[in-house]
Amino acid sequence: MFKVKPLAFESLGARSMATFIETSDLKVVIDPGVALAPDRFGLKPHVLEEKAKKALWLSIEEHVEKSDVIVISHYHFDHFNPDMPNIFEGKTLLIKDPGTWINLSQKTRARNFLKKLKGFDVKPIYVDRKVFKWNGTEIKFSHPVPHGASTERGYVVEVCIRAEKTFIHTSDVQGPILQEQVDFILIEDPDFLIVDGPSTYYDNSYQSIDLKAAIESLNKIIKQTRLCKMIVDHHLTRDIDYKQKIGDVYKIAGTAGKWVGCAAEFLGEEPRLLEADRKGLYSKS
Ligand SMILES: [Zn+2]
Ligand SMILES: [Zn+2]
Repeated sequence: MFKVKPLAFESLGARSMATFIETSDLKVVIDPGVALAPDRFGLKPHVLEEKAKKALWLSIEEHVEKSDVIVISHYHFDHFNPDMPNIFEGKTLLIKDPGTWINLSQKTRARNFLKKLKGFDVKPIYVDRKVFKWNGTEIKFSHPVPHGASTERGYVVEVCIRAEKTFIHTSDVQGPILQEQVDFILIEDPDFLIVDGPSTYYDNSYQSIDLKAAIESLNKIIKQTRLCKMIVDHHLTRDIDYKQKIGDVYKIAGTAGKWVGCAAEFLGEEPRLLEADRKGLYSKS
């Protein structure tokens, strides 16, 4: 038994990388949070985005409820929800170390979150570079890696879950661009990867240098690991033209006989790039 279910992603209507994993030994939710861009194209979130966010949060809550282990890869609000500490009651909570390899903004958020958890039956465990075992299931965390091309936005931990299959969730690597982000993936050699794609929706300065590096990294992962399936989503699918932007990756994957797509496509659904289409949503309503 090895099941991967994307719960909330940009391609499902809101900002998130929430994912449910089930092995024979345990059920895990990675990054139980969902958020909306406060401002895109000078516009506030559309009512359809608000609706999507609510529905996605309900699904996250439901899966957290039936899970044994919850992982929080870093302290951005699309990856955890500090306003609902009650959902962690009785769970094993594996969280990014809030004391080291962290920027000030995330450190403050983590500290406030930990204070809120005090009233509940949950003892958070710091995970950076650690390995945990439950019978035949291993959960392994990377050394903290930068959130994107620099450390300005802090750090994230990548997580590898190994049982009958090997699965990796990269968290917010925004590419990946840096060798240290890619190395964890190459070394752990996943069958299934959920990766945060490049932030092509940023300005043009991003697209030339970092996009090229991201495409090279993704192609390298396709060629040098046993990978069968790769979901690319999150920062990438904030761009309506995301498919063209990484066209080369689809080509290389096709040649190698490997599946690449967004979370919605993996679930057999039409992508709902609501944030990327915010202007369109307003013009229709
Ligand atoms: Zn983030
Ligand atoms: Zn994020």
